[in-house]
Amino acid sequence: MYCCSCGVKLSDAEVRCPLCGLEAYHPNLPRKTAQSPYPVELYPEKEVSPWGIRMIVLAAFLLPLITVLLCDLPLNGTVTWSGYVIGALVLLYVVAILPLWFRHPNPVIFVPIDFAAVGVYLLYINFAVAGNWFLSFAFPVTGFCLLLTTTVVTLRRYVRRGRMYVYGGAIAALGLFIPVMELLLYVTFDTIGFSGWSFYPMAVLVLFGGFLIFLGICRPAREMMERKFFI
Ligand SMILES: [Zn+2]
Repeated sequence: MYCCSCGVKLSDAEVRCPLCGLEAYHPNLPRKTAQSPYPVELYPEKEVSPWGIRMIVLAAFLLPLITVLLCDLPLNGTVTWSGYVIGALVLLYVVAILPLWFRHPNPVIFVPIDFAAVGVYLLYINFAVAGNWFLSFAFPVTGFCLLLTTTVVTLRRYVRRGRMYVYGGAIAALGLFIPVMELLLYVTFDTIGFSGWSFYPMAVLVLFGGFLIFLGICRPAREMMERKFFI
């Protein structure tokens, strides 16, 4: 018999057309058990080795890295501009690819590693441009972001409750850090001057963080907000 929808030839025992999925039934033919003329699986899937993918991605990172080094070294005799490219590639690899090496990457471990990598890259740039801003600006700002993000990630992972307190506290802490950042900017690059702009974002962030903490404390307010925002 043939499928009445797409016309493909069917065996007498076919329950469904293997091509279009239409139910196949011939009233004059008794249903027998017979083998389908078509294979069940056309293209059996092959398992891709994660090791192979890792090696290909690593090669994709190493290739441009070696290329820029080969362009830079013979021309300038030392690592000049290629240092930034290599640093950026290594940073991208650490942040985006390194966690994929693990089956269940733990953010509590990888977030500090990412920030440490950012810090090392900034330190390199600081030395490469003979800047004098790493210790007084980049290091404290990166360090603060590392501490704040790691704390949030750790609390969210290991403490079940208190989501509102964690996020509210983190946002408020970020707000309180902004004037410190302005001060560091002022100390490091004193051309800008201390105008106090940082108090505006600080006020907004502290208020918003405080509001989240208030929602965490006050259950009726939280439920009312949930009703407003989630249908
Ligand atoms: Zn069909």
